[in-house]
Amino acid sequence: MKTRAAVLWAQHEEWKIEEVELGDPAPDEVIVKTAFAGMCHSDEHLVTGDLAVSDEMLEMIGVPHFFPMIGGHEGSGVVHSVGANVSSVAPGDHISVSFIPSCGTCHWCSTGRQNLCDLGAATLAGGMISDGQYRHHINGTPVNRMAQLGTFSEYMLVSEASVIKVEPDLPLDAVAMVSCGVATGVGSAQNRAGVKAGDTVVVVGIGGVGANALQGAKLSGAANIVAVDTNPNKKEMAEEFGATHFYSSFDDAVLHVMEMTHGIMADSCILTPGVTTGDLLEPALNIISKDGTIVVTGLAPMEQRDVKLDLFSLSMYNKEIKGSIFGSSSPRSEIPRLLREYQRGALKLHELITNTYTLDNINQGYQDMRDGKNIRGVIAFD
Ligand SMILES: [Zn+2]
Ligand SMILES: [Zn+2]
Repeated sequence: MKTRAAVLWAQHEEWKIEEVELGDPAPDEVIVKTAFAGMCHSDEHLVTGDLAVSDEMLEMIGVPHFFPMIGGHEGSGVVHSVGANVSSVAPGDHISVSFIPSCGTCHWCSTGRQNLCDLGAATLAGGMISDGQYRHHINGTPVNRMAQLGTFSEYMLVSEASVIKVEPDLPLDAVAMVSCGVATGVGSAQNRAGVKAGDTVVVVGIGGVGANALQGAKLSGAANIVAVDTNPNKKEMAEEFGATHFYSSFDDAVLHVMEMTHGIMADSCILTPGVTTGDLLEPALNIISKDGTIVVTGLAPMEQRDVKLDLFSLSMYNKEIKGSIFGSSSPRSEIPRLLREYQRGALKLHELITNTYTLDNINQGYQDMRDGKNIRGVIAFD
């Protein structure tokens, strides 16, 4: 079958709407009619080159070329058809995608860490998870898909490992929100920083992920939830998602955190900027208390190696720095859990959607994100 999709042909170009030929679903594969796709910052990283794979690495993972690529790794939809052996979903089921596939049987899945599933190695590979073959083509040219998904497409052909069945009464725009930014942000606070009731938490960078780190800190009962963003227009939005304080500079935040904690400083600092740079670690280290935790969630450019850090203080004050992927949780249990939090009114999802676009308007959506107008822009399909 054919589908329309937003495709990137090279860095620093606009998304182009193309007709893509989809193959038939092989065993363990499904075709999904996309309902909503979130426009996450990680897809913008493909455009800017912050998420670029060197030719050397492509050769290592056996991928002939990085572009063309269908964007999008956040979304929801309805199962259209399934290949042989598919057992977790059937046509008509509502699903959330997961940008981390989970096989359920590898070392990581079987020890409750599906966010580290071995299938994740295929995230930027173009062939299908099941057999490594390409089943997406534009005029005969094989097409890659962001995170084995490519949600910027009317129909998606994906592995069963990449979809999670959800309750049919849930609004699908809310479901799409949970699949990336919400799980990543909430989990960075609840699972990785281990926020406890009464804690002081600092979140740096208030975009789609940062707003949800604030929500996670609130769900866990943090007393002081400090948002830091250089754009002062983010204050109102930060407060809506749980921030008790807002500062537009790290220096300002450090002084006030010192005051509000009587010199103890913050229990944790979560880094969720659009692009994480090495110079953020030192101020993060200064804002956390002894035994405090830094969680690095926002993506850094792949080639970045330089970090400025006071290692003496790191050991002398028993501090820790942790990375986090998918909120350090298992998609198959975390996505339904977050949707339950939404259903009981504790987690804001619709409020995250600032603007809705058609597939053809995707470039406008990304421009609005660059201009700081969107927490999340969402593509709505018919
Ligand atoms: Zn994302
Ligand atoms: Zn696995």
